[in-house]
Amino acid sequence: MSRSPILRINNLSYAYEDKHVLENIDLEIYPGNFVGLVGPNGSGKTTLIKIILGLLPHKQGTVDLFHTPIHKFKDWNRIGFVSQKANSFNSEFPATVYEVVSMGLTAKVGYFRFFNKQHARKIKKAIDTVGMTDYINQNVGNLSGGQQQRVFIARAIVSEPDFLILDEPTVGVDAENVQRFYEMLRDLNKTKGMTLLLVTHDTGTMTSYATDIACLNKHIHFHGDSHTFTQMDQEDYSKMYGHDVHVVKHDH
Ligand code: ADP
Repeated sequence: MSRSPILRINNLSYAYEDKHVLENIDLEIYPGNFVGLVGPNGSGKTTLIKIILGLLPHKQGTVDLFHTPIHKFKDWNRIGFVSQKANSFNSEFPATVYEVVSMGLTAKVGYFRFFNKQHARKIKKAIDTVGMTDYINQNVGNLSGGQQQRVFIARAIVSEPDFLILDEPTVGVDAENVQRFYEMLRDLNKTKGMTLLLVTHDTGTMTSYATDIACLNKHIHFHGDSHTFTQMDQEDYSKMYGHDVHVVKHDH
């Protein structure tokens, strides 16, 4: 496995006008990592993801994706993204699972989508990967929150990205389905070798599935393997953040 990072962030700082949200961020993500990016609300997680996705130009520091500075990066097919809003799909819009997942190929095929057999195969494979084959012709609006999120993952992976970024994908998904959802992500990581960056404020379930944890609160306070993270006690977390925090943990 190549040991050069997919994502390399060096000395990144970001401010909205005079509000400093990110300071001196260094972060490297390697092929095959499953990184949980955790931090309380307002800690800068979404800002960081927007910068990584090239949506928010930064002035200080460097951000490289696949060795290319983010402002020059063009190979967006290698990146998949699932946002926290994905599970609020409008149930009035009668799109089937197959149709929603096919939208993930739009960028490649163009807006007038004439899918060939190979495209159809890819769409079915992505739906199978997330375990939604039984629902392929159902309207997405009729599915549960957890099932909808699986469909949005399928849409994000249908173009076979190397790096999948998820921003709070389990908001609105009940606890049992959160577990199943994380199991599916672990499977994508282990069997398909997909590199994952998952943003969440819920450290609990996350630490049992991610290989690595990065804690953000303006600075990166910790970045290491998730086992080391779970071994730390509440005092360590509070020292790390510089104030009292309570990190919910589950045993591995
Ligand atoms: P998180 O995703 O961890 O909740 P965000 O990156 O959304 O954190 O926000 C970090 C901080 O930046 C918060 O204090 C938020 O209010 C502020 N912020 C976010 N977006 C903007 C914006 N467009 N303009 C000004 N402040 C913002």
